[in-house]
Amino acid sequence: MKPVRTRFAPSPTGFLHVGGVRTALFAWLIARQASGQFILRIEDTDKVREVDGSEKHIMESLKYIGIEWDEGPDINGKYGPYKQSERLSTYKDWAQKLVDAGRAYPDPYSPEELDELRNQAKAAKKPFLFREHRPKTMAAWDGKTTLRFKSDPKSYEWTDEVMGKLSTGPEVVDDYIIMKSDGYPTYNFAHIIDDELMQITHVIRSQEFISSTPKFLNMYEALEIERPKLVTLPFVLGPDGKKKLSKRDGAKDILEYKDEGYLPETLLNFLATLGWNDGTTQEVFSKEELISKFDIKRVNKSGAKFDEQRLLWLNGHYIRETGTSELLEKTKDFWPKEAENFDEEYKLKVLGLIKERLKFYSEIPDLTKFFFIELPVDLSLIATNKFLGKLEMTEIKSLVKTSLEKLKDSDFSVSDLTDKLNLLLHETDKKPGELFSLIRIVTTWAQSSPALAESLSVLGKAEVIKRFEVALKAI
Ligand code: GLU
Repeated sequence: MKPVRTRFAPSPTGFLHVGGVRTALFAWLIARQASGQFILRIEDTDKVREVDGSEKHIMESLKYIGIEWDEGPDINGKYGPYKQSERLSTYKDWAQKLVDAGRAYPDPYSPEELDELRNQAKAAKKPFLFREHRPKTMAAWDGKTTLRFKSDPKSYEWTDEVMGKLSTGPEVVDDYIIMKSDGYPTYNFAHIIDDELMQITHVIRSQEFISSTPKFLNMYEALEIERPKLVTLPFVLGPDGKKKLSKRDGAKDILEYKDEGYLPETLLNFLATLGWNDGTTQEVFSKEELISKFDIKRVNKSGAKFDEQRLLWLNGHYIRETGTSELLEKTKDFWPKEAENFDEEYKLKVLGLIKERLKFYSEIPDLTKFFFIELPVDLSLIATNKFLGKLEMTEIKSLVKTSLEKLKDSDFSVSDLTDKLNLLLHETDKKPGELFSLIRIVTTWAQSSPALAESLSVLGKAEVIKRFEVALKAI
């Protein structure tokens, strides 16, 4: 048995999106599970679509979620180089072999002539097939002209490890470009050579390549290459479960998730369970569990729905599992700058209060700012409040006054504050929705805050009294 070797072969044409990293993850899991190797190969043969910085971005994204490669452009390896632009002479040699065997020929048509042939087919309501217009004699190749594969059209039946049995007729096999006039190979040619030379055993890629598979099968035969196992992953779909996931659905690239404070563990879990489950109700898997439990046979054939709520839930789960001190350390770059003036003990208390409902780290400033500075008085928070909006300002003011007097008697322990707040409810004959909202607003001027007694206790008596007095002046 050959050792399992899988690869992730991104084109540096943009940032790594959710679907792309999932492909990398599945390929990595298959390699790790079999104690095989995982290879990173950069497919930079399309100079026009190349985006500056995307190679680095791709590598950083993979590293962030803990997908490490055994061979790749930065570390090299036995079968390098791992960047297609550095392998051009290899493709040229293989192309020449095809020419010599009569299985490739220089494209004799100009783009205009080709358009004309296409239009003729369209007018005759026939599918355009290049192979019906092959030149009578095949010229020698100068190494620069566009080169086409001379296909051998036939029906195919093959088994994809995920999609199952597939079949196509000869009409989908046509002569296609393998070398471009800029000296670069096309993806359709280069990846086949590289997978062979790099001894890839499983080609794991997304559904968008499935319609090209018969062409590839034809090429394997022409090159007398044993084809690797084909593992086609269905698209990741938007929340409606219909269209392919896009930025408009709120999906971000991996480094954006990193910047917002999504944990690597979250992303790993979320991506692994996009279209895969272990057949039980287990929701959360450690990296080791994923490696041991992952199974291609349990990957769904149909598209996986991107569920942002699940992503948030998972991240919240990992946040709650982290000890508060460790969480403070991990989130240190996310605190509002005003927090610099406060000691660790105070920040730990604040973090303790928000930890339960923190979903990602970049929420921290909004959730905590009022613990560090007095936010400006904003009376609209009272006016627009469902309960308070109905009350007269004079009544509001007197409620604030009464509350202040009562709280002045508190020692500001959570239990005593709870008692005092309940007494206040009783004495003013107000509902918690009214009175507690009011106290919350005048002591924070924030849109939301954690539990009231706990928040007041952390703010401390002097600060709370000061804020009440500011509010009384403003109302
Ligand atoms: N370079 C291709 C892409 O980025 C990779 C497809 C493959 O994995 O074979 O879409």
